[in-house]
This record gives sequence, C-alpha cells and structure tokens, in this order.
Amino acid sequence: MSGYDDTDAFEGALSLSQRAMMGARGPAPYLEGLNPAQRAAVETLDGPVLMLAGAGTGKTKALTCRIAHLIHTGRARPNEILAVTFTNKAAREMKERVGHLLGTGPEGMPWMGTFHSVCVKLLRRHAEMVGLRANFTILDTDDQIRLLKQLILAANMDEKRWPARMLAGIIDGWKNRALTPERVKGRDTAEFNNRGSELYAAYQDRLRTLNAVDFGDLLLHMITIFQAAPDLLAQYQRWFKYILVDEYQDTNVAQYLWLRLLAQGHRNICCVGDDDQSIYGWRGAEVGNILRFEKDFPGAHVVRLEQNYRSTEHILGAASGLISANQGRLGKTLWTEAKGGEKVRLIGHWDGEEEARWIGEEIEALQRGTRGLAPVDLDGQAILVRASHQMRAFEDRFLTIGLPYRVIGGPRFYERLEIRDAMAYCRLAVSPDDDLAFERVVNTPKRGLGDKAQARIQAVARDNGISLFDAARLLLQQGEITGKAAGQLRGFVENIARWHAAVQSAGPVPVVSLGEEDDAVIEADPDAVPVRAANDQSHIRLVEQILEESGYTQMWMNDKTPEAPGRLDNLKELVKALEQFENLQGFLEHVSLIMDNDRTGDEPKVTIMTLHAAKGLEFPVVFLPGWEDGLFPSQRAMDESGQKAIEEERRLAYVGITRAEELCTISFAGNRRVYGQWQSQLPSRFIDELPVRHVEVLTPPGLYGGGFGAAGGFGGGRGHSSIDERATRADVYNSPGWKRMESRGVTSQPQRRGAIAPVADGPEFEPGERVFHKKFGYGEVTGADGDKIVVAFDKGGEKRLLASFVVPADQAGDVPF
Ligand code: ATP
Ligand code: MG
Repeated sequence: MSGYDDTDAFEGALSLSQRAMMGARGPAPYLEGLNPAQRAAVETLDGPVLMLAGAGTGKTKALTCRIAHLIHTGRARPNEILAVTFTNKAAREMKERVGHLLGTGPEGMPWMGTFHSVCVKLLRRHAEMVGLRANFTILDTDDQIRLLKQLILAANMDEKRWPARMLAGIIDGWKNRALTPERVKGRDTAEFNNRGSELYAAYQDRLRTLNAVDFGDLLLHMITIFQAAPDLLAQYQRWFKYILVDEYQDTNVAQYLWLRLLAQGHRNICCVGDDDQSIYGWRGAEVGNILRFEKDFPGAHVVRLEQNYRSTEHILGAASGLISANQGRLGKTLWTEAKGGEKVRLIGHWDGEEEARWIGEEIEALQRGTRGLAPVDLDGQAILVRASHQMRAFEDRFLTIGLPYRVIGGPRFYERLEIRDAMAYCRLAVSPDDDLAFERVVNTPKRGLGDKAQARIQAVARDNGISLFDAARLLLQQGEITGKAAGQLRGFVENIARWHAAVQSAGPVPVVSLGEEDDAVIEADPDAVPVRAANDQSHIRLVEQILEESGYTQMWMNDKTPEAPGRLDNLKELVKALEQFENLQGFLEHVSLIMDNDRTGDEPKVTIMTLHAAKGLEFPVVFLPGWEDGLFPSQRAMDESGQKAIEEERRLAYVGITRAEELCTISFAGNRRVYGQWQSQLPSRFIDELPVRHVEVLTPPGLYGGGFGAAGGFGGGRGHSSIDERATRADVYNSPGWKRMESRGVTSQPQRRGAIAPVADGPEFEPGERVFHKKFGYGEVTGADGDKIVVAFDKGGEKRLLASFVVPADQAGDVPF
C-alpha cells in the first residue's frame, strides 16, 4: 500500500499480545445471548452469508457480534474488516458495541463507516489514478450547481429552461448507476436536450481541473480505479479479509459493484437486510441487489431470522398486516415472545395543530407514567414524520409548552436554508437595518451582484457607520453601482422600503377583537401565544407578497432538483405558522426563542425525525403523525402510475411501525390548512390496511369525542376560529374523507356533551344562564342570535361570540388551561 495516508488504517492493528489475550479469554460470552440462527450467522465465518430477515430480528446485533467474533477469534484484525453501515451514527454505535463486546473500547475500526466515508479514505490514497491530487476537495451542492450553471451557459443553453439543478440530478442518477460519461448510452443520451452526457463529461473535466469531487464521484472513482488496476484491487481484496454490510436492501448499483469487486477474491462477505425496508428507491437504491445475492455469490449461506425482539405482538401484527399488501416481496413470518402489550393506537384529529398539541400532551403523560405504562423518559419517545415540513407544528408546540426535543437527520425547521432565507426577508421588512439578514439575501435569488459590488456596499457601510441597506441606497444615489446589477439592487432596496412601510402601517394589531359587527369572533388561545383576529391576515399576506416580489418562491419553482418541492412545501408551512401570530414582529420573536432553545444541554429530549432517517433505530414509544393520502403516501407516489411508488411508501410505513417497542400511535388530521384555506384530508389508505385486531381506535379529544377536551374545545388547538371556518367544517363532515373516517369509527361529528352548544344545532343557552369562557371568565347570557350569543362578562363587559366557546358556568372546571 502506498500513497497518501491520513489514517492509521493499515497500521495500528491489534498487537500480538492483545490477540493472545483475546484468545486466552475462552469462549465468547456474547455468543450466549444469540438465538441459533443468529449464532449460525455469526459463526459461519467463511464464504458469503446473507441475513435476510424482518425488522427487529437482530440482524444488526448479529452483524455486530460477527465483527466481534472475527476479532476475538483472531480471524481478522480490526483494521482488516470492512464494515459498511448506512449512517455515520450507525457506524459509531456499531464501533462502540463491538468495543463493548470485546472490552477493548471503540477504537481501532478504521474501515467501519458509510460508503462515502470509507471511499473518501481510499480515494485520498489513490487520487492520482483518476487525475486528482490527494488533497482534493469535496464540493457541496451549491458549488456543484454553480459549476454546472457555468457549463450550461458555456454550451449556449438557456439556463431557465435547462436548469443546473436538473442536470445535477441527472448526473447524480448516472453516478448512482456507476456510469462514467463514456458509459452513458442509449436512451440516457437524450437527457437534458440531448446534451446531458456531453455536459457530464465537461463537468468531470472541470472537477479534475479544480482538484475536486462531488459525493457521487467518491464511489465512481474507486470503481474506475479498481477496474483499471487489477493488482491494486487484488491487494485490497487480500487486505479486507471480511466485508460486512448492514441495510443491504438500500444499496445502489455503484455501491453494489464496488462491494462485488472487493469481495470477489475471498467472497467473505456478509450482507444483512430486509427487502420490506427498502426505502431509497428514489435515490437509486435497488432492492434487487439483495434478492440477487445468492446468484452473485453461489453457495451463499442464507440465514432467515423470524423472532422479533423489539416489538410487542400488536405492533408486529399491525406492521406485518400492512406490509402484506405489497406484491413484490419475499414474504416472511415474524413472531415475538412479547405477547399482548398495547394495541397500535389510531386517532384522528381536527387539524395538524391539534395533532401536535395532543401528541405533546401524550408525551408528557407517558413521561409521568400515567398511561398505565411505566414512565418512559423523553429519550425513549420519537415522532417520525413522512415529510420534514410536518416537523414545524411539533417544534412550535413543544417550544410553547417547554418540552425538550431534538431533530435528527436534518436541520430543525427554522434552520433550514429556505426558511432562514425567508426569515431574513421578514427581518428586513421589520427592520431594514438588519445587516445579517441583508447580507444573506441581497443576492438570493441572484441579482447580478458580484463579490466586488457586495464588498463595496460593506465598505461604505463601515466607513460611514451606516447599515448595509443605507449604504446600498447611498451607492445607488451616487451612481456607483451601474448596469443590470444597479436595477436589480434598486428593486431590492425599494421592495424592502415598501415592505417596511407595510409593517409599520399595520401597527400593533389588537390581540383580540370582539363585539364587532363583522363576525370576527375569535377564541383565546389557552397558552397565551399571541392570537390575531381571525379576519386579519395582513401580515400573512405581506409575507406571501415578500416571498413573491423578492423572486424567492420563483427561484425554487424554477429549481428542478428533487429537494425543490420539499423546500416550497416548507415555505408554505412557514406562512401557515404565521397564522398563530398577531403580527410579523411577534412571529420573529417566537422564532428567535426557538433558536435559543437550541442551546439546551444533554437533558433527555423527544426525537423528531423523518421516517427515512429512522431506519435501524428503535424507541419504546413512537408517534406516527400525518397518515393522510397525499402526505403519506405522498402525492408524488400517488400520482405515479403503477404500484411501485406506493409499495415503497408502504415499506416506509412498515419501517415506521417497526421502530416501536412498546407503544405505537398513528394519527391523522381531517384538515390541513394551506395558505389560510382548509383542505380536507383523506385518511391514509394505509390505515385501511392495518389489521383491525391489532388496532385500538382512540376517541379524539375535544371536537370528536364531544365537548371540550385537551385540545381546548371547538377550534381545536389553533386558538382561533371563525364563522367561515365553521361552514367549511360542515363541508368536511359531508366529505367522503370524513365519512370514511366515520365508517372506520375513527371520528364522529361533534356531539352534544352536557349543555355545550353544538355548532350544527345552534345555541342552546337561555338568556340569564351563567356561562364560562376561557379568556373572559364568567358571565351571563343576555341574548342569542343564531349560533352566536351575547354574554355580559363579569369582568370583560358585553361580548358577542360563538356559543360553542362557552360552557355552562358549573362546568367551568372542564375547561383546561
Ligand atoms: P432493523 O431491521 O430495524 O434494522 P434488526 O434486525 O437490525 O432491525 P436489531 O436492531 O439488531 O434488529 O435488534 C432489535 C432489538 O432486538 C435490539 O434491541 C436487540 O438488542 C434485540 N435483540 C436482537 N437479538 C436478540 C437476542 N437474540 N436476544 C435478545 N435480544 C435481542
Ligand atoms: Mg438493523
């Protein structure tokens, strides 16, 4: 081995004395805890081994023991074992577990990691073989896009019609399939207006000149090197005595080829996976790789594990029932000794905010141990979402109630690139002198301001002690910035000034408006988050306007990468978040609090993550919100013809349920608000596929069970309501989705409970009756008008409001605060 070496990967092996010590330890205690099938997988050290088994059957555990066993028996030194896991986190955990099993600590496994992390180490050693130097840089997506854009322009193509991000996606797809530019053939050559492969070649040349690679190159270059240098490959084949791969079902073609090259000599390769958990098809993963294993490695020892050690009977039953709807699968039997336990709970909510509110309360109740279960601390509880924009409602809610949480596998909602950009625009509207915000978005979307122009603005600001905004205005006045950039910068500056004027003219918005003739009757939020009047949407409209006039939304609409739709969804979600605030300032304050919340220590926290990121993990308590058609399965999957995409979504649902050890709760909302409009949601088709005997349908709080529940009564958890919304509700009740929920016994129309006036039936309060309102306290009904009543509150004067917002005075205790 020669060349650049930034690791001790090929040195630092166990010393002879260490090995002797291990040998002297006698039979390995870790083998005791394995069942016979696992033990066979661990002890069959020579030749190919495939562990193809369902979730929670101890595949990862067996894989870890196998590594320990290889080392313990002296078959291989830690640095002769190549072990590939799906995430760096999984690799770290595996290292620790092996160290623990052997009592040696987590060090000394240099070749345990993700495909990328292993390949980057290898490529640094042999970079010159693909025309790079050992210190090559790895481009991030932004750099990659910038580079491609230049190439597209140089090729005289219209970047608007043929965006760089689209090309990046195409090239990435080719790299996932291990196609170098020369290997792009057939139908693929038609990509990107027939110019795709030519631009791909140009891009690879450019990367080489820059001494850079992108992520896809890490594997691709290694394959190229191994294919071009059989001697070198043979050296590595000898070096890596044993190869182990977790989550094999999600490998793509390039990863598969790379593994096959390395394993071809000794064939000591052990792959574990579950065809039912293949969830990365959209990124080029080929579930066929695992199904073909026995063909690729004839004589492979195939181990099937059937006992699930993770979940209770009902959780397993629900998951198995669901996945059985998939056609293209091997089919497996799973069983568990953990009989009984809680059934999978299913609950429908009025809307997403109520769902978040309810889950927050459940988490706290479970933490206290008040659900008939032993207390489960926050680290043991997770919320797994289909789409990252779903996280926002939980983050906001948990901040409000002070519930510590962490977001794994991606930035927290308000830390996302597009949200930070949009927030920067909002901050500028509130305060144009916010230099950080100005800097962030002055050239996003592109306004033709080069580094020089930006540096000039900075210098003028510094020299004159003024803000960047004022400096830009000054430079424009003095004609120092010219050309196209000047026009664009002027537009930007003028926009900010106009938005700022709009913020100022809105003035302080009254928190509650009552007694007005315009029916703007609202309900106070029990958690005292500022609530705006229901008909005042000025700040929401302003933010929509800002995103539009700045060109920011358009920028993502033009973007053809797979992430762009998600980013647009997040922007919509941001607008939705505004609904709970009376003005833009209040919202910005709230967000800065969220960011502040970031600096929490090591206290236990609820985990919020996507289903994709949750692969391989387990939690005692799992919440699976948002099971609605269009969200889960995703709209894209539903739009695609054929079963393929839906089946992948179903596998994702299977992954979700099987993360739970003791308690799994699936929920959905009957409505989601998009741009201030109700959208009625159909419960996910997957809900219909859950075997009834493993599912318990919970009575939803408040609205559905009738009466005021934890969610704070009518209006759900949103803290406001209006007559118009009520009309929409009636529509919802008649919608097929709602009927379907009813038929499943999941939800029901609001029912009368005590003397609470059901909206549909009109008020039932008599003048003179004493009532109680959450915000205004006690009062006396003085009149009724349709479904509205007039109440003379003891402390708040006379107000006209919806009858559903009050309860008879003797039931005041039922109203939670
Ligand atoms: P997934 O498909 O979700 O990745 P997996 O098959 O990799 O699951 P593991 O994570 O290895 O399953 O194991 C699931 C749980 O079962 C873990 O908590 C593990 O410690 C436990 N477990 C595995 N095998 C045994 C066993 N033989 N005895 C007791 N517990 C076991
Ligand atoms: Mg696993």
